[in-house]
Amino acid sequence: MTLRAGVVAVQGDVSEHAEAVRRAGEAHGRETEVVEIRDAGVVPDCDFLLLPGGESTTISRLLHDEGIAEEIVAHVEAGKPVLATCAGLIVASTDAGDDRVATLDLVDATVERNAFGRQKDSFEAPIEVAGLDEPFPAVFIRAPVIGDVGEGVEVLAEWDGRPVAIRDGPVVATSFHPELTPDSRMHGLSLFETDALAGEATPE
Ligand code: GLN
Repeated sequence: MTLRAGVVAVQGDVSEHAEAVRRAGEAHGRETEVVEIRDAGVVPDCDFLLLPGGESTTISRLLHDEGIAEEIVAHVEAGKPVLATCAGLIVASTDAGDDRVATLDLVDATVERNAFGRQKDSFEAPIEVAGLDEPFPAVFIRAPVIGDVGEGVEVLAEWDGRPVAIRDGPVVATSFHPELTPDSRMHGLSLFETDALAGEATPE
């Protein structure tokens, strides 16, 4: 069965996620079709979703205006995987500390926008991620810091003593940008190595 990955494309780094999910699919022997989501009605046919980085105020406003927000919430309630990165994490959080961001409450975590500090506006660091054998090259760009996380949230990675990758049920959210490196293991971990696909036979 071909899997359908939906990249939320109202704003942000869409093509990089599309490429990364294709590479992760190949690495898992799964044919993956990628669709871009700009309107309501597409999300219900997707097996998994990507919420890219970009500008969280703009992304959250457009998702609500277009009626896509409630479809994403229903996708998560159905237990289907989501990878949310950077601004995507901010949109997926319960509270971004900013009234201009209408969060979707997909992960039980608060965030602080642009909180890694000016000198660290943009940097790359190898980080240990639970479930990956080798460190992952994490690219941080004006990255949000994750604050309080709920009891059901698993911290997958930390940087500087703070969580930078978390899993809450079917949703993995990262402060950094896994789509900006050739390494597709975060996409593999969050979308293909999940309970949602575990029951399915892998095609030869
Ligand atoms: N600073 C952006 C925001 O707050 C996020 C940055 C990013 O996605 N690279 O929305």
